[in-house]
Amino acid sequence: MEKINISELSLEELSEYIQSIGEKKFHAKQIFKWIHRVHVESFDEMTDISKSLREKLQENTYILKLEILEVQKSVKDGTHKFLIKLPDNNAIESVFMVYNYGNTLCVSTQVGCKMGCKFCASTKNGWTRNLQASEIEGQIIAVEKYMNQKISNVVYMGIGEPLDNYDNVVKSVKLINCPEGLGIGARHISLSTSGLVPNIYKLADEMLQATLSISLHATTDEKRKEIMPVANRYSIKELLDACRYYISKTGRRISFEFALISDVNDDEKTAKELAKLLRGMLAHVNLIPVNELKDGVFKKSKEQNIERFMNILNTSGVITTVRRELGSDIDAACGQLRQKHIEGNK
Ligand code: SAH
Repeated sequence: MEKINISELSLEELSEYIQSIGEKKFHAKQIFKWIHRVHVESFDEMTDISKSLREKLQENTYILKLEILEVQKSVKDGTHKFLIKLPDNNAIESVFMVYNYGNTLCVSTQVGCKMGCKFCASTKNGWTRNLQASEIEGQIIAVEKYMNQKISNVVYMGIGEPLDNYDNVVKSVKLINCPEGLGIGARHISLSTSGLVPNIYKLADEMLQATLSISLHATTDEKRKEIMPVANRYSIKELLDACRYYISKTGRRISFEFALISDVNDDEKTAKELAKLLRGMLAHVNLIPVNELKDGVFKKSKEQNIERFMNILNTSGVITTVRRELGSDIDAACGQLRQKHIEGNK
């Protein structure tokens, strides 16, 4: 019989499992804490669990451990980019960043991505599989151990489309949030989506209190279709309606990501259109100077255009900031390290 990944079980599921093997329910909480809070790597380390139960667990289950394959460290700002190996030998990326409000980890949610955004390295080789909840949480555990530091914020902005792996992603948020585990508050967790409208409605109804980020990147459907194939499925109007629903259900401000690309979406007209689209909404705009990929198709906006774009929005009453570019001296744009890894293996 195949062993069960015990790290994948929520506290409730673990409780049921423990009872199903004829043990007392209260052991579930102890075991859950050892795995998700203390981060033990073997059952022998669970000192308050009897030898016989430890042996039973050892025989039938395993604790997930993700291995770090490569680390790139920015000498400029302390950003660390990790290439992480999954049990089936696929590789994903996580990025550790230091902000004044705490250490933040950007996690991957899929091996590859189906969305096909033209400016994104993560989608270039297509999609391989979804990550399990424990593989998402496992990135935090592996990096905390490596850095010997706590992570206080998690952003789902690594490889993959979180809302295309809905159940595992929601389960992972609950795992990470669990007070018996990492205990990271939902308000310190951000989910980013290219805009899978039906799942934005579904997420709103989960009442998770996580921050939602929308990768908008364009103000007209025509332009958005040119750079984001998802725009062929959902219009900007449908997307913004879903956002308004999310806000009304959760009371949470939505963050709109706008990657500024030279001569594509960084002009005055686009800035004014964006201000018009978002005016009056509980929203915040995050401008990201696009990370140029090796293919050189999209170029970063000029400094003065970024400045102009931000000023137009701010003077229209739409709170806008420019994302600090971290790790610019390493393969910062997500997906680039994995891409290099795949090419190296060929
Ligand atoms: N699939 C999700 C989350 C992963 S991407 C999403 O689309 O939101 C995280 C963010 O990085 C998104 O806003 C995405 O559009 C942006 N991004 C991707 N490639 C980029 C690049 N080369 N430069 C700047 N931002 C990029």
